[in-house]
Amino acid sequence: MKYDVAVIGAGIVGLASASAVTKRFPGASVVVIDKEPTIGFHQTGHNSGVLHSGLYYKPGSLKADLCVRGQRAMVEFCETEGLPFKRSGKLVVATDPSQIPAMEELLARGTANGLRGLRRINADEIKEYEPHCGGVAALHVPESGVADYQAVAVRLAEKLSGDIKLGQPVERIRSGTGGVEIDTPGGTIEARAMIACAGLHADRVAAMSGLETPGRVVPFRGEYYQLTEAASSLINGLIYPVPDPRFPWLGVHFTRRVDGRVEVGPNAVLAMGREHYRGVRPEFGELARTFAYGGFMKLAAKYWKTGAMEVWRSARSSTYAKTATKLVPEIRGEHLEPGGAGVRAQIVMPDGSLQDDFSMIKTENAIHVLNAPSPAATSSLAIGDHIANLMQGLL
Ligand SMILES: Cc1cc2nc3c(=O)[nH]c(=O)nc-3n(C[C@H](O)[C@H](O)[C@H](O)COP(=O)(O)OP(=O)(O)OC[C@H]3O[C@@H](n4cnc5c(N)ncnc54)[C@H](O)[C@@H]3O)c2cc1C
Repeated sequence: MKYDVAVIGAGIVGLASASAVTKRFPGASVVVIDKEPTIGFHQTGHNSGVLHSGLYYKPGSLKADLCVRGQRAMVEFCETEGLPFKRSGKLVVATDPSQIPAMEELLARGTANGLRGLRRINADEIKEYEPHCGGVAALHVPESGVADYQAVAVRLAEKLSGDIKLGQPVERIRSGTGGVEIDTPGGTIEARAMIACAGLHADRVAAMSGLETPGRVVPFRGEYYQLTEAASSLINGLIYPVPDPRFPWLGVHFTRRVDGRVEVGPNAVLAMGREHYRGVRPEFGELARTFAYGGFMKLAAKYWKTGAMEVWRSARSSTYAKTATKLVPEIRGEHLEPGGAGVRAQIVMPDGSLQDDFSMIKTENAIHVLNAPSPAATSSLAIGDHIANLMQGLL
């Protein structure tokens, strides 16, 4: 059978895109292909579960637009589908007066991005939301919260009117004017058009179909600790630091997840492989390829001190606790238990910069989602709609 659309990747972005395409083009036949045996096996199943509000992103960027629309759509989806979520609200806390200008900058961004109820609060007001949190001032972000993105992906898969082929790694892609032929161990899948949402392998899948990408994926691991049950009562919702504007990640923070556990993290260290989770053997070949990439070496030369500090902190719970203590002074090393880890797919450009915004490339018969790091889970339903718009002319 020849499908109208083949989607590579049964993560939340691939499934949201497949779902949006079936709505935008009624009657279109769709297949979703993934190399893993289950839905949402990689980033979709290894993240903080935070429903980002859209606070951090440059006004006018795809991230700003799709995150704000996406979080509202995600809440509606979870409500309608009876999936767990909570609009717990977030504090972004300045622990030192020197951080206030950066906090004010976030307030301006969030206001420009149209966030509802966003406001600056003082040290006394911080205590009303989070009695154990220190800090000289904070932003209160009511539109933030938590969700279970793997559950969302599974539900999107259940509701999809299309085929899903799991355990089928895409090995080769032949692309021509008539469409695409996608080789998997289970056979060749033909489609008029393709949407590639391959996360950690986005650049490789693009290369398979002959597309030269502007940068390449460098995997950054995020490691978590979890608060002991006794200490978890110190946190009500989400407590974040004011982030370092040089990096797209948000700094070690506290997250009370939908199941009530409180996670601390994630940090950001170079992963020893694109799928280097805890307990998985490092892929030294992949590490060598990262070091051979000029873009990564330029990034490392610029930020080696920050990188070394992250590695040091990663190895010692007491150092991790010290970072967390800045936000919640009662936290001690003994309150932290090792938690999970996830690997972020981040495009690093040849000049050593980290691609900040989401990026999608449209070719004559495909859309390639190249850079979809956080907040892509939050934004996924809006990303799906955006991709369905981009599909105009391909079907
Ligand atoms: C540590 C961490 C914390 C995060 N926290 C948050 C957060 O709190 N909030 C938020 O909004 N976002 C967060 N994110 C980001 C979010 O998880 C991702 O942006 C989102 O899950 C991306 O979804 P995806 O579908 O693009 O990728 P993925 O979920 O990685 O899916 C890609 C799929 O493609 C498949 N694939 C790859 N290559 C092939 C191939 N050759 N053949 C077949 N299949 C293939 C993979 O098996 C995979 O299932 C976090 C990410 C990490 C790592």
